[in-house]
Amino acid sequence: MTVGPVIIAGGGIGGLATALTLHQIGVPCVVVESVREMRPLGVGINLQPNAVRELYDLGITQDDLDRVGLPAKEWALVGLNGNDIYSEPRGRLAGYKWPQYAVHRGRFHLLLYDKLVERIGPDSVRLGSRVTGYRKNPDGSVSALIEQPDRSAAEAAGRLLIGADGIHSAVRAQMHPAQPPIHWGGAVMWRGTTWAKPIRTGASFVGLGTHRHRMVFYPISLPDPQTGLSMINWIAEVTMDNAEGWKHSGWFRQVGTEEFVHHFEDWIWDWLDVPALIRQADTAFENPMIDRDPVPTWQDGPVALLGDAAHAMYPTGSNGGSQAIIDARVLGAAMVEHGVTQEALAAYDAKLCGPVSQLVLRNRGAGPFGLLNLVDERCGGRFDDIDDVIPPRERAEFMAAYKAAAGFAMESLNKAPRTIPPGARARAAV
Ligand SMILES: Cc1cc2nc3c(=O)[nH]c(=O)nc-3n(C[C@H](O)[C@H](O)[C@H](O)COP(=O)(O)OP(=O)(O)OC[C@H]3O[C@@H](n4cnc5c(N)ncnc54)[C@H](O)[C@@H]3O)c2cc1C
Repeated sequence: MTVGPVIIAGGGIGGLATALTLHQIGVPCVVVESVREMRPLGVGINLQPNAVRELYDLGITQDDLDRVGLPAKEWALVGLNGNDIYSEPRGRLAGYKWPQYAVHRGRFHLLLYDKLVERIGPDSVRLGSRVTGYRKNPDGSVSALIEQPDRSAAEAAGRLLIGADGIHSAVRAQMHPAQPPIHWGGAVMWRGTTWAKPIRTGASFVGLGTHRHRMVFYPISLPDPQTGLSMINWIAEVTMDNAEGWKHSGWFRQVGTEEFVHHFEDWIWDWLDVPALIRQADTAFENPMIDRDPVPTWQDGPVALLGDAAHAMYPTGSNGGSQAIIDARVLGAAMVEHGVTQEALAAYDAKLCGPVSQLVLRNRGAGPFGLLNLVDERCGGRFDDIDDVIPPRERAEFMAAYKAAAGFAMESLNKAPRTIPPGARARAAV
C-alpha cells in the first residue's frame, strides 16, 4: 500500500473541516483547491448546534465564531399579513448545550483556512489546482488527476481521495457517470446583505410570506456599538414555472436589485420595509435553488464524496454547511476505528449516505418551511389567529419531525457521546 497523504479535492467548508479533522487525528493530508486565492465569498449561512459542537471539538472557539457571526436566538415564520405563524428559541436558549451560529459564509470559510494554515502550514492547500478525475491503482491507493495553475496536467498519489469539490463535483461525475443533470424545482433566490437594525430578539431568523413567494432574513453580525446596525443577510425568493429549465447562463450571477425588487414592492409593514432592505444592498446574487438527485453510494474503493459533492441540498433547512462539517467528523471517527482505509470510507458511507439522501429529498419538499405550505393551503397565507389554521400541537409535531430527521433533535444531540473522543488518533493500518 502506498504511504501517501489523503488527498482532499476542494477547499470549501467541507474540505477544510476534513483537513482540520484529519490533522487532529494524525492523518497527513493535502487539499487541492481550484481557486487561486481564498476570498470571503458568499453571504449568510447557519451553523446548527450539532456542527458547532464539532467545531468546538476542533478547537474553534466561541470567540472565533463571534468574529464571523453571532449566536442565533430565534427561528420564526410570519404570514403575509405580518402575523406570527410559528416561533421557537434556538441554540442554547432552546436548551441545546451548544449555540447555533448565523455566520458570514466567506468569513467563516477564511477562519477555517487560517486555522489550517496555522496548524499544518501554507502547503496544506494547493491553490489554483483543479481535480479533474481519479485513477484507482492496483495497490489499493488512488491518483488524483490534477490541472495545475499553468494548465499542465499532473497526478498526486494518495491513500484515499475525498471529493469535497461542491455541487459541480468532478469526482462525483466520474463516480456516477450516469447521474442526471442538476435539479431545479423552479425557485429563484436573490441573496444580499444590508446594514440595518435587527428586529425581534436582535438575532432572529425570519421566514416571511408563502412557500412560493417569501423573504428570509437574519443578522450575521452583532450590532455595531456606534450605530446599532447589524449586517442583515436576506434571501428574496420566488417560485416560477420550471417546465423549460433554467434559461440564464450559469448558476450564480451578480445582479442589480431592480431586476427583482418588484416582486416585493408592497411588502411594507410598520416593523419592516422589505423593498428598502433590498434596495440598500450594495450587490445581490441570483441563484436558482438547485440540488442533485441522491446517489446510492458515496464510495468507490479508495474514493469518497463529502459535503455538497455528496448531497447538495436546498437551503430550506439551513443545514448544507452544517452537514458538510458533520460528514468530516464522521469520516474522522471512521478512521479512528478502521484506520486510513477503504473500510473507513465504507463505514462513513454506510452511516451517512442513506439518511442524508433522505434529508436532501425532505428539503426538496420545503423542509421546515413546510408550515408555510400548510398555511397557504388552508387560508391563502392570511389569518387572524394561527391556532385556527394550524393548532399548536400540529405545528410543534411538524417541527419536531423535521429536526429529528435533520439530526439536530435536542435531547439526542445533548446526550450523544463525542463523535471523536479527545486525543483519539486514526488506527494504524495493518
Ligand atoms: C463561492 C461560494 C459561495 C457560497 N455562498 C453561499 C451562501 O451565501 N449561502 C449558503 O447557504 N451557501 C453558500 N455556498 C454553499 C455552501 O458553502 C455549501 O453548501 C456548504 O458549505 C457545503 O460546502 P462544501 O465544502 O461541500 O462545498 P462548497 O462550499 O461548494 O466548496 C467546494 C470547494 O471546492 C472547490 N472546487 C470545485 N471544483 C473543484 C475541483 N474540480 N477541484 C478542486 N477544487 C474544486 C470550490 O472552489 C470550493 O472552494 C457557497 C459556496 C461557494 C463555493
